[in-house]
Amino acid sequence: MAQATASRTFSPSLNIAKLKESATLAVSARAKALRAAGRNIIDLGAGEPDFDTPEYIRRAAQRAIDAGATRYTATEGILPLRQAIAERVAMDYHGEDAVSPTDIIVSTGSKQSLFNACFVLFGPDDEVLIPTPSWTSYYEMVTLARATAVPVMGDAAHGLKVSAAMLEAAATPRTRGVMLNSPSNPTGAVYSRAELEEIVALCDERGWWLISDEIYRDISYRGRATSVLDVATSRDRLVVVDGVAKAYAMTGWRIGWAIAPRAVTKAMGALQSHTTSNATTVSQHAALAALSDRAAAENAVSSMVREFQARRDLLVAAMAREPRLRYVHPEGAFYLYINVAAVQPDGAAGTAFAAHLLERHDVAVVPGAAFLTPEWIRLSYAAPRESVMEGVGRVITAFGELVP
Ligand code: PLP
Repeated sequence: MAQATASRTFSPSLNIAKLKESATLAVSARAKALRAAGRNIIDLGAGEPDFDTPEYIRRAAQRAIDAGATRYTATEGILPLRQAIAERVAMDYHGEDAVSPTDIIVSTGSKQSLFNACFVLFGPDDEVLIPTPSWTSYYEMVTLARATAVPVMGDAAHGLKVSAAMLEAAATPRTRGVMLNSPSNPTGAVYSRAELEEIVALCDERGWWLISDEIYRDISYRGRATSVLDVATSRDRLVVVDGVAKAYAMTGWRIGWAIAPRAVTKAMGALQSHTTSNATTVSQHAALAALSDRAAAENAVSSMVREFQARRDLLVAAMAREPRLRYVHPEGAFYLYINVAAVQPDGAAGTAFAAHLLERHDVAVVPGAAFLTPEWIRLSYAAPRESVMEGVGRVITAFGELVP
């Protein structure tokens, strides 16, 4: 009764008037519900490594708890962690203003850094260019900041990436920034050094903020992907976001960070101080251990990346069995982005295909509508090899049923 009254009286505030539920989480929820009902669902929807957090990190966290790492820290994060991040960045960035710990803010996952960056940099009347397809939350974060997200469609002949010229063509006098993600979720495409140089130069020239989400940077199959910090000569309008979630299999620990000019990290810190305060203390110590023990990190990350690459190779080989299925050749992250437009002509093929695949073949993937490209589906290969291979086999079978 009380609930019924609440739903009659609740009308969402203007802050969330346009907010959509995360489509990626909606798929996992449906897959979980089917599982609970006894179905043997293969979940290729999740954007989360299927590995355990490496042991050296878990042990460091246990030691940190025993040593009393259970209290608040400074909002921006413990200094040793910010120092470790600054040292890591120093290997990449050779521009005019070296990165210091004050240019770094540690947050509750890179997601919070991305949101806080959008919130402090953009507002009403601002437009933000988002190369599309893109991770579903960028559009919502920009909208929550009451700015306008402007999707810029990537070039299908070029891994669905955008060029500087394409960004320029989508700009207006209200453009204030660009949100870039390489390696990309959902496509697995990786921007080359030359491509990043052009985009960084354009942003510099136009005075736009460039938010570069590099959370998948270590998961890249031709050596570490290029960072915008590798090519930038100034950080004046650059926000680089990274974290430990993906490369170190630490999704649940919730540690990410932003590297930005000091005025921006200060503003993000003020925002964070009134919302969530510091990221979880023990998790900060775990992240510190993850980054500081270089030999153990190299060992753990490279063995996970090798496994992702082996799965990628097997997947690509399997896809050759159905040449009518086009996909973006994945060079990083752990996603295969597949075009299923042939399934139906109404532009919503990805949603129809994903529903058919889940209901009839017990495989969960994310419909491309979540990434503003509704003729595609995203298959995550962050799942055991057997599941991935069984899953792709069923994708091919399902496609054959729908497109005889
Ligand atoms: N950025 C991208 C492109 C992602 O795919 C994700 C997670 O799915 C995140 C950021 C969020 O990562 P975190 O767990 O560090 O908040």
